[in-house]
Amino acid sequence: MIELKEVMKRYGSGKKSFTALSVDTEIRAGEFAVITGRSGSGKSTLLNILTGIDRPTSGEVKVLGHTITGYSESEMAEWRGKTIGIVFQFFQLIPNLTVLENILLPMDLVQKKRKAGSKDTALSLLDKVGMSGHANKMPSELSGGEQQRAAIARSLANNVPILVADEPTGNLDSENTAAVLGLFSDLAREGMTIIMVTHEQESIKGATRQIVLKDGVIMQDSAIMRGGHEFGAIR
Ligand code: ADP
Ligand code: MG
Repeated sequence: MIELKEVMKRYGSGKKSFTALSVDTEIRAGEFAVITGRSGSGKSTLLNILTGIDRPTSGEVKVLGHTITGYSESEMAEWRGKTIGIVFQFFQLIPNLTVLENILLPMDLVQKKRKAGSKDTALSLLDKVGMSGHANKMPSELSGGEQQRAAIARSLANNVPILVADEPTGNLDSENTAAVLGLFSDLAREGMTIIMVTHEQESIKGATRQIVLKDGVIMQDSAIMRGGHEFGAIR
């Protein structure tokens, strides 16, 4: 589903250049993969390359049959909006839009003209993340956990098959962390492919695969048991 073929990211030039990432792997459809590793190990670089936010120095990224590495910026933006939902550590809701308007925003970007059912879709997404009572609030009226759940609803707005999250629980207390992880597990069970970066050992519960990065290379890659069924690739 997602193929990273001899993907390499180098920074700097000449003697000062170094390799931030060097990986060759695949993520299968329906996997809930967690990427762990110390600060600076290349986790965000990996996510940014597979979402097309960043480009590899060499190698190829293929997602659902599309080789995105050759896309122009505008092709990339259009493809990303339809394909990948992205959740960050800092919730990044637009502060002067209501929660509902925040969720409608990515739909508007992809659809050009708002469809009649968009509002209902947005409300059902809010319901899914346990936020149905908060549609008309401003982000500043929400707790951190609520903001992150709204951000997750927004990331799902275009019915995307892939969800990517970079330290999504990094700013949440344990209760909200559990809520977010539970939500990800549910989404994975419904068939969504999820790739999440975390440095919290707690957060790998519910995942089907753990990839450990060190100095930009994959040190360990294991399938984790989920619901009694072994699932995902062990390489
Ligand atoms: P992680 O997310 O695991 O903390 P990153 O992927 O952000 O790690 O970074 C991997 C390595 O690449 C680090 O050594 C970091 O300093 C370096 N790096 C990341 N972005 C840049 C950049 N734009 N320019 C130079 N070095 C960078
Ligand atoms: Mg990072």
